[in-house]
Parts: sequence; C-alpha cells; structure tokens
Amino acid sequence: MTFAHLLEEAATAHAVADAARAKAYALDCVAWNTALFIGELDHTSPTIAAAIEGGFPLLEVRCEHCKHTEMIDLALVVQPRDRQVALMRSYLYCSPCQRTVGKKWRPELIGLRPLGDPQPAAPSRRTKKAS
Ligand SMILES: [Zn+2]
Repeated sequence: MTFAHLLEEAATAHAVADAARAKAYALDCVAWNTALFIGELDHTSPTIAAAIEGGFPLLEVRCEHCKHTEMIDLALVVQPRDRQVALMRSYLYCSPCQRTVGKKWRPELIGLRPLGDPQPAAPSRRTKKAS
C-alpha cells in the first residue's frame, strides 16, 4: 500500500465516521425534541456543537406570557460549544415582554430545528433593536 493510498483510505474512513457521527447527533436532536414534547424534561439535551453538527442549528423558543416565538441560531450564540442546549434557557429572556411590561421572562424551549426554518435570530439579549 502506497503512502498516497493510505492517506486516501484514511480520508475516506474519516468522512464515513463524520457522516455517521452527524447522523447520531441528528438522532439525539430528534430524541430531545420528542422528550420536550412529551415532557421528559430530565432527558439530557444535545450540546450546542452536536446540534450544529447534527444539522439542527436552530433552537425554537416561546414566551408563555406573550406567545412570542423566536428561532435562535446556535452558530451565533456566544456559549461554550460543549454546553448543553437545555442550559441556554438561563441565558434567554423574552425581549417583547421586557419592552412592554419590563419583565425578563424566561422562554420555554420548544425544540431544535434544521436550517431552512424561517427567520433565525441571535439570542434576544444580543439582538439590536430595529426601531
Ligand atoms: Zn413575552
């Protein structure tokens, strides 16, 4: 086996492993979405890195007070990539509620979404006001 061939074999094996890992992460994301939906709140959430690599880089959140929903692009989040997505909740608050009633309500986590869902946004606390 030549050196060039070894490198090629290794590159192929890594590509296969990466694809398999991405699929595993995607399944973790779908499982966590399901856990949120059925109320299994103790289920461990994927990390930010896993959600991005698994193809679910958007976190959908909803304020129970004003029903405002928002898509948070995890790629833009300034958090350690090995942090669980579920812990994001502690860093978020509903910006419409803060503007209108002056309260920093924590939004509920709805689930991870693949790219292609409309209007991803940075976390509320980092969003510049449009007005
Ligand atoms: Zn709200």
